Amino acid sequence: TEFVSPKKQKRNIPGIISADGSVNANRPMALIQERRKLPIFAVRSKLLEEIQKNPILIVIGETGCGKTTQIPQFIHEAKLARNSMIAITQPRRVAAVSLSKRVANEMGVSIGETVGYTIRFEDVTSPSTKLKYMTDGMLFREAMLDELLMRYSVIILDEAHERSVNTDVLFGIVKKAQKLRSENSKPPLKVIIMSATMDVDHFSKYFNNAKVLYLEGRQYPVKVLNAKQPQSDYLQSCLSTIFQIHLEEPAGDILVFLTGQDEIESMVHTVRLAGKECKNVLRVFPLYSSMPMHMMENIFRPSPPNERKVILSTNVAETSLTIPGIKYVVDSGHVKARVYQPSTGLDVLRVQKVSQEQSWQRTGRAGRESAGTCYRVFTNEQFNSLPKFTTPEILRCNLASVMLQLLHLGIDAYSFDFMDKPSQEALDAAVSQLKLLGAIESKETRKLTPLGSKMAQFPLDPRLSKILLSSKAYNCTEEILTVVSMLSAESVFINALNNRDEAIACHKKFFSSEGDHITLLNVFHAFKSFKSQKKQCSENYLNYRNLLFATEIRKQLAQICQQNDIPLSTCGQNTDMVRKCLVTGYFMNVAELQRDKKYIMVESKQRVRIHPSSVLHKTLPHYILFSEVVQTSQCYIRQLSIVDEDVLNEIASDYFRQHRLGSKD
Ligand code: ADP
Ligand code: MG
Repeated sequence: TEFVSPKKQKRNIPGIISADGSVNANRPMALIQERRKLPIFAVRSKLLEEIQKNPILIVIGETGCGKTTQIPQFIHEAKLARNSMIAITQPRRVAAVSLSKRVANEMGVSIGETVGYTIRFEDVTSPSTKLKYMTDGMLFREAMLDELLMRYSVIILDEAHERSVNTDVLFGIVKKAQKLRSENSKPPLKVIIMSATMDVDHFSKYFNNAKVLYLEGRQYPVKVLNAKQPQSDYLQSCLSTIFQIHLEEPAGDILVFLTGQDEIESMVHTVRLAGKECKNVLRVFPLYSSMPMHMMENIFRPSPPNERKVILSTNVAETSLTIPGIKYVVDSGHVKARVYQPSTGLDVLRVQKVSQEQSWQRTGRAGRESAGTCYRVFTNEQFNSLPKFTTPEILRCNLASVMLQLLHLGIDAYSFDFMDKPSQEALDAAVSQLKLLGAIESKETRKLTPLGSKMAQFPLDPRLSKILLSSKAYNCTEEILTVVSMLSAESVFINALNNRDEAIACHKKFFSSEGDHITLLNVFHAFKSFKSQKKQCSENYLNYRNLLFATEIRKQLAQICQQNDIPLSTCGQNTDMVRKCLVTGYFMNVAELQRDKKYIMVESKQRVRIHPSSVLHKTLPHYILFSEVVQTSQCYIRQLSIVDEDVLNEIASDYFRQHRLGSKD
């Protein structure tokens, strides 16, 4: 790929606040040194003073300046949290886990003691935990149990610029909790909003004109290079750029921004193979949210001399995680995002273009420790045509889940204090979906039904909660627990790129002609029957860790079932029951075969294809129910089961009276 340098290169964040730096001992010496070198250390006392003075504080500072790891420690050391907890939210699991571990190391404690983390299906905290790193979704769930969030004296909403749905909802929830606590003479709640970048006026205004503090970062100049010509394939272009850098540029590690796990894993494979031909060692690491934690450590380890590290990452490395040693950034210009499709009422995973702001954040990662270079594999004209900012997720996703949780809190989404209010249509669509699932009494009153209240208790999409709750009537709770857990975990199949045929042959043993859901059930049963699970997983190209995780999820969901009076019944070999039960929540996700042997979705009539990873790929069942929609150049459906027309009409009669089956255009 040929690059040119654009004329205009920006930009800097204003820095303020003066220095001071008292140190705390009893910790690993090397880490204390590192800590003291962070720019934030110099402004510790000023920062603490502002935190004490202001009930809500907005803190902006360049990525890597020490916000996430240091500010909670400062507050803890200064005993500002009294004796209760400090919550620090992150939009991504991998960030919550990795950063809490780093902080535990710096403080010289084991993770789960003073410092812990909570992510969905995993809680590593104890009664002695004071600094709790957690996903924003988990804090939202805690608010459902206690809207005043009394366990916390300080809540830090981090990565606020990302505007994830849960963070957006938490903005309103913590604001209200703070107000209620002060009105009712309860211990006060301190709120800190942190970010690397943000639309300051918008935020400050929403938070009652909160004070904004800018932290000085250390940012070296980064030279931006744009592709000279538009690139038809960003992956190919990233690949060639990696080797251009490796072969021609001086020492320094490379960070490449790609879009998702599959893409990253296959690129890791390609780069490793090609890297073997090079004289200088090139070490290749993936980085994405669902990655096993033990693989994270290598990423942070500095490269030995004569070795270069290349990290292939999703946008998690944009601002959440700072990796040392990066001198070169390769920006694909793309990101995978969950996008609501109003035409289908579904969230679609889609690869789309980044915003200019996101691209600048990526660029900044090359200049943390010295001057660097950012290679954008798109032209400067293409850059200029990108949207300036990313649209908040709440304005582009299905709101049914958020609405259900808010209703459980006694809050009506229509009158909720959103920073950016979703459109009337989006709210109406969520209401319709909840009504169809039987979670609310009517679209007008929006009062939760008993079923709806139960659905809200599961940390799942409302459709999946409904399916779990229906399993009682179909006597297949054991099986549904397994299917739902397997859908909630990451993929259990290993796609061995070098032994593809052998892997597929192994996987075929588990395949069910009924579809992917029953296939997942078969895999889980096999896993349970393995005498030596780790070894047999690897022999069968199954992901042992993901299966363990699914087992853990299953255990937790089973507990919630039992609390809700759902006995753990089983349908044995009669898997028809499982597929029927899936219809109770997924009736809106049905595709129908057309005369031309292609599929359309029943409700929207949109064309879809069966994803190549499905066991139903290359078969032509009349009706298929799907769990997921993925959009690349085509629209694909994934995680499928065959369903009968009669079953659809029987279980969701109202729905299919409205959206008639059998349109054969
Ligand atoms: P911010 O939140 O302002 O972006 P952080 O608090 O996340 O900054 O990071 C502060 C510093 O700690 C960075 O220099 C980063 O490289 C370092 N750091 C964070 N996590 C780790 C880790 N697991 N291993 C090594 N260094 C880390
Ligand atoms: Mg941070």
